[in-house]
Amino acid sequence: MRYKALKEIEETPIFIFVDFICLDKAPVPVDRFGIKAPQRRRTSSSEPLQSIVVVSKVALLLAVLVCSQYTAQGVYDVSKAEWGGRAPRWTVALGNYLGYAIIHHTAGSYCETRAACRAVLRSVQNYHMDSLGWPDIGYNFLIGGDGSVYEGRGWNRMGAHAAEWNLYSIGISFLGNYNWDTLEPNMIAAAKKLLNDAVNRGQISSGYVLYGHRQVSATECAGTHIWNEIRGWSHWSG
Ligand SMILES: [Zn+2]
Repeated sequence: MRYKALKEIEETPIFIFVDFICLDKAPVPVDRFGIKAPQRRRTSSSEPLQSIVVVSKVALLLAVLVCSQYTAQGVYDVSKAEWGGRAPRWTVALGNYLGYAIIHHTAGSYCETRAACRAVLRSVQNYHMDSLGWPDIGYNFLIGGDGSVYEGRGWNRMGAHAAEWNLYSIGISFLGNYNWDTLEPNMIAAAKKLLNDAVNRGQISSGYVLYGHRQVSATECAGTHIWNEIRGWSHWSG
């Protein structure tokens, strides 16, 4: 999200960025020259214009810092739009404070770059929608070998990943087949951050239970290497 926020700054005029991101949190008076604190409007005309510019930049920096803290919670690295995902045919609402998070693998291609992962994501979604007839990609979120979290169905939308558990859990899937692919440290860190975000935003409860898919369905998912890894995580339960 930090990447996204900075990208927006680069591409968006200052007054639009602040107004859009912080409208409901910290309204900042703006005009077409940028941000001006109200008291600075009473400054005599002899004061150098440069000082106003400095104040504007400081205000922008503070706004960015506040917004970053606010938006860093509960976000993902790559939105569905950014990986070229298709819109869902329909959605089913998913409640908050769920009791479970379920870990999967896609049992398909592994990817190491943003470009490669985007292509794999589109392929997985096409398979789920066109071959399996699902309304969307099955998982709430996916994690690539590049260490990025990719939005699937996202927050508060029921996934299709663990049968009768769908309504009571979020589904997180690693791209690849972890009977032979291996988890890198940045992938593990991404998964743990995502789970923390899910707790912080109230999507799952603070006392949630973590399962591998094989614990709730007759499947080998999420592969041997993930299975060996997640059994050491704090919320995993046997
Ligand atoms: Zn699975």
